[in-house]
Amino acid sequence: MSKRALLQYLELIQESGIDHVFTPAPVSAEDKIKQLAALREENLNCTKCPLAEGRIELVFGSGNPDAKAMLIGEAPGDNENKTGLPFVGAAGQLLDKMLAAINLTRDEIYIANIVKCRPPENRNPAPEEKIACLPILLEQIKIIRPKIFLIMGLVAAQTLFAKNENLGWFRTNRPDLMGTPTYVTYHPAALIRNQNWKRPAWEDLQEFQKTYESL
Ligand code: SF4
Repeated sequence: MSKRALLQYLELIQESGIDHVFTPAPVSAEDKIKQLAALREENLNCTKCPLAEGRIELVFGSGNPDAKAMLIGEAPGDNENKTGLPFVGAAGQLLDKMLAAINLTRDEIYIANIVKCRPPENRNPAPEEKIACLPILLEQIKIIRPKIFLIMGLVAAQTLFAKNENLGWFRTNRPDLMGTPTYVTYHPAALIRNQNWKRPAWEDLQEFQKTYESL
């Protein structure tokens, strides 16, 4: 499927998904745990896209199923593929520090990626791979019902907003995702590569924290 088709698909999701995703009936944390476990189980041996070939572990997502905030990254890397956990290794350690700086821990938020299996050589996920995998993320969002999103990295932002803008555009314009306040910042792996981005990332996190604490 072409990139254009992917964008149209995602625009459709965003235009039609709000009521579907955030139904008003309350759901207990226990039910959310059960629903997420069932969704993970359902997809453990998924073969809906070619990324299944390199999978050691499905990197479904982790954290608090009843979280107020959901953090969304791009894709698992080598360490994540081996452990089945998102954001491990050097980028994960930096993420922990970033969260600690805004008084959060992994146990308080829920972390997931756009695709659940590692792209070879850590390349960006292809449009057809994102299309195949996005229903899992959308289902996770529907179960968790976060009150705020923190999107990490350009690939995740462009995919979720179906917009081909640069990271600066997403950081400053702050469009809502599915009617929910959303902040976009640098991926921790990018911050390891370029220390100059740490200050703007810190500014993004402080803005995110203000809104998070007000919810
Ligand atoms: S990346 Fe997603 S769609 Fe592709 S095989 Fe893995 S779980 Fe299935």
